[in-house]
Amino acid sequence: STGILVQCRPGFEADALLELEAAARAARLIGKGEAVGTPGATLFRLDSPQPHDELRRRLDVSHLVFSRQAFQLIGRVEGFAGRDRLGPLLKALEALGERFSAILPETPDTNDGKEQAGFLRRFVPLLEAALAETGQLRPDSPHLPRLHVFLPGGDVALLGLSVASEGSAWPMGIPRLRMPKDAPSRSTLKLAEAIQTLLTPEEQHSTLRSGLQAVDLGASPGGWTWQLVSRGLRVTAIDNGPMAPSVVATGLIEHLRVDGFTWKPRKPVEWMVCDMVEQPSRIAPLMAEWVAGGRCRRSIFNLKLPMKRRHDEVERCRALIDQRMRAAGLKYILRIKHLYHDREEVTCYLTRR
Ligand code: SAM
Repeated sequence: STGILVQCRPGFEADALLELEAAARAARLIGKGEAVGTPGATLFRLDSPQPHDELRRRLDVSHLVFSRQAFQLIGRVEGFAGRDRLGPLLKALEALGERFSAILPETPDTNDGKEQAGFLRRFVPLLEAALAETGQLRPDSPHLPRLHVFLPGGDVALLGLSVASEGSAWPMGIPRLRMPKDAPSRSTLKLAEAIQTLLTPEEQHSTLRSGLQAVDLGASPGGWTWQLVSRGLRVTAIDNGPMAPSVVATGLIEHLRVDGFTWKPRKPVEWMVCDMVEQPSRIAPLMAEWVAGGRCRRSIFNLKLPMKRRHDEVERCRALIDQRMRAAGLKYILRIKHLYHDREEVTCYLTRR
């Protein structure tokens, strides 16, 4: 039995599955959505087995918006309960005949999942030792796939495969980010995660450095601005609301109490970020206009999704952006992710190629 398992924020299973089914259709993969029996995960069951390389070539799960983490389901251990859970798991892994670069212990992001996480913390070191012994775990071979051990609840363990480039480096796709002590709001973590998730290390290095200019639309109280000024960028903060003293004190910001929809910079800037709470169908064209019209080189922005059919809304916004970029004859990069720190919203990165 095989399929693709996607982990998402609890409550977003329907959107994650709609998106996964559409991606599978586009990749001409035959199968159907199936309940996993827990919030926070969804499964597309494949009708016929596929080698991981082939599946990965056809469907790149790293592009899925509502996926925090995804893997190819390769096995299932029943009766995973009681005193000896290592034995049955080792037996299943031996039968699979795969070697791994790492083990990712995972559960749904729910209260039940948290209880299982405690068990996994004690269990995984034992599993690692056993697999190192047999040569199935090779941390010095990063090209090998990673083994996901996912506990959906009950007495079942699901086993999965992914390569590092397809999934998150963090188990369950949950980054461990510390709240910077002088940042003004928790939403600072949203931009911190967006930078790490949506930009390559090289893009982070070359575009987020001192001397560069940024605009923050809907900046108050300054959590996002803080991420930019702490990297040395100068920021024009647009908001009728106040900016926190810790951000003002950096001397790197200019605060303008004007409307983010109509204000324009006098000169092109490297970055425009936007966290204004507004309809996505108003934000998306505005962002496309900034990038296509050359006001900024690149942008990170949120699309707020308080509605039911969130997957549809994201695709509508994608189409709006595509329309504007095509009209300008521009090739572009658009990456969209429902981040761990996002609630009813997704975060996007847009730039010209
Ligand atoms: N990113 C900010 C942070 O990290 O501190 C939080 C931004 S908050 C979610 C949204 C902000 O958008 C509010 O402060 C609001 O005043 C501002 N806003 C909403 N509509 C706006 C508009 N048309 N022009 C400028 N700011 C706007």
